Amino acid sequence: MSFMKSNTAGKKRTSDRTRLLLTLELAIILPAVSLMAFSVWNLHKIQRDKAIEAAIQRDFTYVLGFAEKKAWHKAAGILNPVRQEFPSCNSPGSDIKKQLDKILAEHPEFLYVALYDKDTDLLLWRFQERHAADEAWHKRLTDTMTMIDKWLPFEAPDMVHRVRVGGEKDEMPFGFEGGWVERDDDHYYWNFGYFIPAAAPRDDVSLGLVGFDPEYLRNSFFPGVITDVLSSKNTALRSDANPPAMMIRPAKSYIPWITSSGWDGGKPEMERPLVNVFQGMVLGIKYPGTTIAAIGAKFLRYNYIVLGALSLLMAGGVYMAYRNISREMNLARLKSDFVANVSHELRTPLALIRLYAETLELGRLTAKEKYQEYFRIIREESERLSALINNILDFSRIEAGRKEYEFKETDLGELVRTTLESYRFQIEQNGFAFEENIAADIPPVNVDREAIARSLLNLVNNALKYSKDQKYIGVSLYRANGSVNLEVRDRGIGIAPAEQEKIFEKFYRCGDPLVHNTKGSGLGLSLVRHIAQAHGGNVSVESAPQKGSIFTIALPIDPHPRQGQATA
Ligand code: ADP
Repeated sequence: MSFMKSNTAGKKRTSDRTRLLLTLELAIILPAVSLMAFSVWNLHKIQRDKAIEAAIQRDFTYVLGFAEKKAWHKAAGILNPVRQEFPSCNSPGSDIKKQLDKILAEHPEFLYVALYDKDTDLLLWRFQERHAADEAWHKRLTDTMTMIDKWLPFEAPDMVHRVRVGGEKDEMPFGFEGGWVERDDDHYYWNFGYFIPAAAPRDDVSLGLVGFDPEYLRNSFFPGVITDVLSSKNTALRSDANPPAMMIRPAKSYIPWITSSGWDGGKPEMERPLVNVFQGMVLGIKYPGTTIAAIGAKFLRYNYIVLGALSLLMAGGVYMAYRNISREMNLARLKSDFVANVSHELRTPLALIRLYAETLELGRLTAKEKYQEYFRIIREESERLSALINNILDFSRIEAGRKEYEFKETDLGELVRTTLESYRFQIEQNGFAFEENIAADIPPVNVDREAIARSLLNLVNNALKYSKDQKYIGVSLYRANGSVNLEVRDRGIGIAPAEQEKIFEKFYRCGDPLVHNTKGSGLGLSLVRHIAQAHGGNVSVESAPQKGSIFTIALPIDPHPRQGQATA
């Protein structure tokens, strides 16, 4: 019967555990693992598609386009007012020269200005004074003018048409040409912006030409554009990498002409020839100190590490949740066992008391010893009842943090003796050999009499309950380095090593069939421990299954009672 009982309890426990594991699996582990798997798959996909690299390249393409547009607008912005005050071919020649010189004087960034008229096929030009005096520069300029003069008659109508169409489309009416001259003796950049002078008569094919000084482009114009682009919010560059660097190089040479701060040499990741403005120049961009491939690899590595760390955290969390929940489940089970046990324990002595009291009431007993025996049984059963109720009351006080102890200097030998006195008969009645050893040198100790007596009774009671064939109980009181030890020995069923710590927990009862068959609340030892700790001492157990147990309460001789701090 008892075996069956424990068996069904065991079954219930395993089904509880499987249910918990199943819940954890379905509610936490499965979604978590799926999420992780999905993330890993996603990262693989990103890696396979080189998605990071592609995204950076898209960014770079956009930035380079944006930079070219910016350069175009900046140059057009400079030319716009010039176009307004530019002379037209209707003015007398001397006026034209004067006006062109005035423009040059106002714009040191121009190398030359020129006016071309198709009708007269005349190219009128003026150089910046400071360059005109320099022989090398003078040669470059006149060469450029000769070249322009040669192809303008063919190109001018197209150029005028392009500019006009642009103006009609609400764009700024400007065009640009440029390139590198590479001769054995010289190597230089030429360029000009062109427009129809505002004062030119309609339908007239005439053009204003303005050449930008390459030094100005190199030292001021392009650095300004690059700084603007790199600091602009529009470019939406990835903020997690170090800021990108840009450079401009001649189309036919890989030696940079201009670099932004931070340019660390090497090849740009992306390039774009400036085909709409400053032709012959190529714009490049890269992340200094790294490559797009390295950034992609770093991103993936970082994400894998984060994913790994998250998985570990999640596994830890699941484990903790499992532990906490199973602990709570255990406690809940212990509590319900407790209620069943306690009701049972209350009912049995009450039934006995009632039975014997009724028999006595009927007055049919003849033998005097019978009276004696019945009265004794009634007393013993009520004592058991009070012991149980006292345990429960103490326990609830401890749980509520209201348990108080009254420490008084006490002769422990006397206390142990009187406590056992009323119990001795019962012990021997049950067929136990009883041994009591109280040392003579026990000093007075500050204790709560009632609490110590209750602890002793709990231990003796357990020894009674948990002995089978070897019926022996020994109680000793002796001094041992700095404390007085109260020891209760039995030769009973003993306690498995794995359970020796747990038996002091509230509600805990061992799995032994005999224990299940024996009444008990699982509170006794937790109270004993609380009491011992409140006295600044402790309780320990030495036990071997089937050999017996020794419980020892150690009470310090000079105790610092830690009332209320001890936990049950
Ligand atoms: P109860 O005896 O009411 O079950 P206790 O807290 O006093 O509760 O004891 C807890 C458990 O420790 C018992 O259920 C029993 O399994 C074990 N135990 C206690 N004392 C002994 C002992 N002397 N010998 C064997 N087992 C014991």
